[in-house]
Amino acid sequence: MADRMAFLTTPRAERERRDAQQRLGDSREVYRPRAPLPVVGGQAGRCMDCGLPFCHHACPLGNLVPEWNRLVADADWRAAAARLLATNNFPEFTGRLCPAPCESACVLAIDGAAVTIKNVELAITDRAWEEGWDLPQPPERSAGRRVAVVGSGPAGLATAQQLTRAGYATTVYERADRLGGLLRYGIPPFRLEKHRLDRRLDQMRAEGTDFCTGVSVGRDLAAGELRAGCDALVVAVGATACRELAVPGCALPGVHQAIDYLTWANRVDEGDRAAPPVSAEGRHVVIVGGGDTAADCLGTALRQGAASVTQLDINPCPPVCRAPGQPWPVHPKVYRETTSHEESGATAAGPRVFAATTLGFEAGPDGRLAAVRFAEAEPADRSPRAGTERSVPAELVLLALGFSGPEPDQGLIAQLGLATGPDGALARDDDFATGAPGVFVAGDAGRGQSLIVWAIAEGRAAAAAVDRHLRGGTELPAPIRASARALTL
Ligand SMILES: Cc1cc2nc3c(=O)[nH]c(=O)nc-3n(C[C@H](O)[C@H](O)[C@H](O)COP(=O)(O)OP(=O)(O)OC[C@H]3O[C@@H](n4cnc5c(N)ncnc54)[C@H](O)[C@@H]3O)c2cc1C
Ligand code: SF4
Repeated sequence: MADRMAFLTTPRAERERRDAQQRLGDSREVYRPRAPLPVVGGQAGRCMDCGLPFCHHACPLGNLVPEWNRLVADADWRAAAARLLATNNFPEFTGRLCPAPCESACVLAIDGAAVTIKNVELAITDRAWEEGWDLPQPPERSAGRRVAVVGSGPAGLATAQQLTRAGYATTVYERADRLGGLLRYGIPPFRLEKHRLDRRLDQMRAEGTDFCTGVSVGRDLAAGELRAGCDALVVAVGATACRELAVPGCALPGVHQAIDYLTWANRVDEGDRAAPPVSAEGRHVVIVGGGDTAADCLGTALRQGAASVTQLDINPCPPVCRAPGQPWPVHPKVYRETTSHEESGATAAGPRVFAATTLGFEAGPDGRLAAVRFAEAEPADRSPRAGTERSVPAELVLLALGFSGPEPDQGLIAQLGLATGPDGALARDDDFATGAPGVFVAGDAGRGQSLIVWAIAEGRAAAAAVDRHLRGGTELPAPIRASARALTL
């Protein structure tokens, strides 16, 4: 049995990453494959198995963190996998990509270093796949009902997997040529190798989920017709309407939306083309934005051989430690260095520029983009501080300013008569149901731009809501209500 006092003796150890320079030479995942299991066991053993596990409550899926930590510490990996898969359809995605609000809420993090919960989760799921413990679970009997899911991101996939396993004849419609939503064409392969997604999709097919790609519902297939042909419809179309930057020069050739750039790069990795239509190779690149998308652009531009990359973030540099206004157990805004920043050697001092407001894009004599003009942003209103204007050379600008909601030009929304809330997201009640009978909304489409862990939680809860709607009751788990939000002050 593992040492129950390991939190006093074992320091936190992060999962090992490959050498940063070596990483830039390929598109493989940044982490070393196959974490040494005894080391992971030692880390899991740091869990204090608190009576009131805040980590569990901070995870939107309600992952049973202390339970699987204890099982891993005792080397019972198979039982740990069963406990993990009981609450999370896709731990191979969250184990790699989740920002881990659970770790911010770990009791050890009050005055020390949290348990490496996310890494333990990843080691469990990787082992489960290797050992064949995460097998297809086809339903034992048919529910005799049909459900259509529109969108194959993590929300649509989680909804579909839950409903298929419960016996519903479930079909997922996806407008793109491949399945996976932002997991496929947004997030780069160096953070999620796509064979992991394909493996999960194969499992879903083996369970009985049907997939139709290349079908944009509302354009290629009338949404009303689709609704009439099924017993319930779940809209999980994401929230990928890009924010624009209305400054002089924003229409210059060379200014692109980050999501387009990342999609092109992902398509090269999928083998669709030899080179992207827009590449950073040999060019001075400026990324406007400070989130995950901006960091993914940075890592991609470095791999393409950019001459330089500057990142302009309008927010001030966050503190290294929790600010007094963000006490434990909230997930705090602190300075975080992503693996892309590690590769670029970027620090808080540069070439990552904080509190930078973009003033405009300037053309060279050939009419093409040549520079970006920006200034320090006043903390109060983000207006440019007088006398701080400067320029950086730029031949490629990537706008990573976030998303305002579902794309508005889709026929789907109008055809189903769906309403939009003040935040741009699709309106629904607390049980994921819209005003249109039998139509539900899950994922970023209803929540607004969010995270994979929330999308999976939404998919699981929306599946339970559909089951209740069609059968009058449900035994499917519903980890969240539609109105649930992360803990903030
Ligand atoms: C670059 C980038 C990096 C990110 N990194 C992280 C990260 O590290 N960690 C994290 O937790 N989150 C991250 N996110 C956020 C995360 O990817 C999203 O929150 C999540 O994918 C939302 O899932 P979803 O299923 O709601 O929507 P999506 O993943 O957007 O999927 C929606 C799907 O619906 C399809 N669709 C839309 N309209 C139609 C239609 N009319 N007919 C048929 N199909 C349609 C779309 O093509 C798409 O495939 C990142 C996002 C981006 C853009
Ligand atoms: S899914 Fe995210 S929040 Fe939940 S346990 Fe895993 S890392 Fe933590």
